[in-house]
Amino acid sequence: MGGGRYPRIGEQVLYVIVLYDTAAGGAGYVAALPASLRKVFERAREILTCPRNCDAACHACLLSYDTQHQMDVLDRHKALEVLNGRFLDGLALPASAQWFGPDSQAEHETLLSAVNREMQVRGSDRLRIYLAGAAAEWDLIDWNLRDSLLRWAAEHKQVDLYVERGTVAALPAESSNSLASLVEVASLSLYDTERFPEPRDRIVCEVVRASGVVRWGVESDSARTPGAEWGSTEDGARCVRCADPFSGVLPPAKSVSASELRRLPSGAVVSLELIDELNGDIVGFGERFWTCITAGVPALDARLSGKTPLSVVSYNDRYLASPLDTRLLFEVVRHVLAASGTSDKYCAFELTTAQLSASQFSSPTRLHHDWQEGGDRVDVIHELFGEHFQPFQITVEAKHQLPHARKLVLEWADGATMQIRLDHGFGYWRTTWSKQYPFALSPTRQTIALRSTRFGVEPRNNQCATIVYASQVLQKE
Ligand SMILES: [Zn+2]
Repeated sequence: MGGGRYPRIGEQVLYVIVLYDTAAGGAGYVAALPASLRKVFERAREILTCPRNCDAACHACLLSYDTQHQMDVLDRHKALEVLNGRFLDGLALPASAQWFGPDSQAEHETLLSAVNREMQVRGSDRLRIYLAGAAAEWDLIDWNLRDSLLRWAAEHKQVDLYVERGTVAALPAESSNSLASLVEVASLSLYDTERFPEPRDRIVCEVVRASGVVRWGVESDSARTPGAEWGSTEDGARCVRCADPFSGVLPPAKSVSASELRRLPSGAVVSLELIDELNGDIVGFGERFWTCITAGVPALDARLSGKTPLSVVSYNDRYLASPLDTRLLFEVVRHVLAASGTSDKYCAFELTTAQLSASQFSSPTRLHHDWQEGGDRVDVIHELFGEHFQPFQITVEAKHQLPHARKLVLEWADGATMQIRLDHGFGYWRTTWSKQYPFALSPTRQTIALRSTRFGVEPRNNQCATIVYASQVLQKE
């Protein structure tokens, strides 16, 4: 193992120690370190406590072949000042947090990366996940573990989802259907269990190997809820891990199949499973979308060819964050406006979306990248849609204040309405080629570029369908 140290000067001066495996390809020593950080520091204290009680460093403590060129900077007393008892105690868990007994340890990584790393260890071929939290908060589409689940399925690793009795029945139909799709596409096994293993209000997942299990607990129900914040301890919740040579006895559980999960949401008359139906040039995306919907709801076809114009369109989507998603929505609503014979600026549009979260791209450059916080999203969306819809209104709220459902509502001048729900929203599709987008230009120039750019559209993952639910056209009573 090797290491280096460099100062990072930001708001405050701090030192970053970088450790790396010296063996080609990595020997796994560094990866194993976070789990035994306290032991490593305790051993370091032993080494620093020199048997010759030297002034700074000698051959009985810090001087070795590896450190011979650092002799001038080595000082065991300074190191001992840092690795004091208080520092080491800070790494230990208080007794009240030793949920899994004396071997419990604080998890220093995010749960997402800790689980991913443990699943890479040889012999880790099974993961058990205990899903809890309020059924209405479940968000299978944006579950941050989703990509990992698909990857483990491809690697033939078994993932078992456990839910406590009553949870599945309480799920809204859309979530239940999304769970069914995920169970199928990621080859998951789903179990309805009387109760979770202890501590049942904290356990979140277990990696199972022949040599035992590694299990984690989180003291937060939202961290056990499938969604974008699964495993998150950002609210200050504690995450604790424990390696246990005994895999434990699981309480009795009943297997639940994907078909038992599928049901039509209330108000919907059809559910359309789309995979490649909307593939093709972005110009024509809207037409292909409505062709699929009218095939399922013939009354809509009759309505669009009738004489009544649309009066209000509304769309709710927490994650309308990229120029690509914006353009896809734009094609869909502009087409229905034209198909219904509604004049430009005759129909209102109410768009609701969530505040942008910290972007994964520090400087976005592509059509599918998100606008940055404080960027031009609202201005560009306003200019793009405002040309066709009047008045156009965009409301931006905190994410947790918006419903999960991505809902498009059409309302005609005679009061008739129709609802369409998209389980993935427009994030289901991507461009066939990575496409540039001029984030640095003014909102007006961005709007011009966004409206005119041409590209092909295809699903991000063509093994997984997106489901569109459509209601009947409801006449005003
Ligand atoms: Zn010494």
